[in-house]
Amino acid sequence: SLAVSKRVQRVKPSPTVALTGRVAQLKAEGKDIISLGAGEPDFDTPRHIADAGIEAIRKGFTRYTPVEGNAELKDAIIAKFKRENSLDYKRSQILVSTGAKQTIFNLILALIDSGDEVVIPAPYWVSYPDMVMLADGIPVTPYAGPEQGYKITPAQLEAAITPKTRLFILNSPSNPTGAAYTAAELRALGRVLSRHPQVVICTDDMYEHIYWAPEPFTTIAQVCPDLYDRVVTTNGVSKAYAMTGWRIGYCGGPAEIVTAMATIQGQSTSNASSIAQKASVVALSGDQAEVREMNRHFKQRHDFVVDGLNKLTGVSCLPGAGTFYAFANVEAALKLVGAKDDNAFAEYLLNHGGVAVVPGSGFGAPGHMRLSYACSMQTLEEALKRIDRALRAAQ
Ligand code: PLP
Repeated sequence: SLAVSKRVQRVKPSPTVALTGRVAQLKAEGKDIISLGAGEPDFDTPRHIADAGIEAIRKGFTRYTPVEGNAELKDAIIAKFKRENSLDYKRSQILVSTGAKQTIFNLILALIDSGDEVVIPAPYWVSYPDMVMLADGIPVTPYAGPEQGYKITPAQLEAAITPKTRLFILNSPSNPTGAAYTAAELRALGRVLSRHPQVVICTDDMYEHIYWAPEPFTTIAQVCPDLYDRVVTTNGVSKAYAMTGWRIGYCGGPAEIVTAMATIQGQSTSNASSIAQKASVVALSGDQAEVREMNRHFKQRHDFVVDGLNKLTGVSCLPGAGTFYAFANVEAALKLVGAKDDNAFAEYLLNHGGVAVVPGSGFGAPGHMRLSYACSMQTLEEALKRIDRALRAAQ
């Protein structure tokens, strides 16, 4: 067989992708499976945004744009950061990429040398540690369990930072837990970061608009202005505007870092889709009513699912502040069904309940499962019934 690099051998394929394959296989065998694995909204892209994409094609906006994104979209992003996050950025501080996934990958490649450490609180989005390993860096993953609301404390952050730390990645609201940091909690983390000027902060605000905590959403550069010069604020249109397939992510940050990221992008993929850029201008600058409407649905499903999960034997689930994921502790339930870990438990639910969930291990949180509620209420109701039945069958 042909040899592949040591670099790629360190990386594991995404567990959510593995699940999708397994579900497809069972469905092909004729099994009735409900998948709660989805990482994307079930809604269509709002009509006015989709129309802007069609118009871009018709008008011939189908050529290369500047690598960093066209000026019109950069200006829409600058206006968004100002309006929603009270953050000031210039065009030289903005980079548009092919999804926020590329934004974060560019940033990691731009900052991390071999042996550099990146602090990633667990539970984390599956891709962060693997991206760091692709860059020959070392992920450092302090764990925040349910007893602390899945949020790391300033003391944990302090203990995780060493002279080798180059980057800290914060995702709020969080995939997979739905937990969001309050302004006061961000300030407390900020005080730790003030003492470590070598650390750049990447905040992943992808779920900013899928959010229902009592206090308004805040991001770290906004509440810790002293850190502004080393924060890269990352966001995208995928989740808020139901645009996962359009592939537009973006960031605002220090010009030197953003320029380095653009250099990497310029030698790998160049600009993000010109058509999707046009649609994203309309997403960010146009009517936001549908965003609020989708959020209302997600909140309603959240309440239903969290309540239903907590009624199951051996399952406990904290309410989230946003996203479309419920993250449940299943340590007692997995013992009940004789599963050795969360992977075996997910396999049990798939085989005995016909429900696909993502095991917590991939997110750095063994003993948990992630359920996506980017699906109809009827689907959720049926899924909860099936899980209940599968758990009872084992008793
Ligand atoms: N960040 C988080 C926390 C996510 O959950 C995702 C998508 O699953 C992304 C970033 C990347 O989104 P995209 O590349 O579609 O912009």
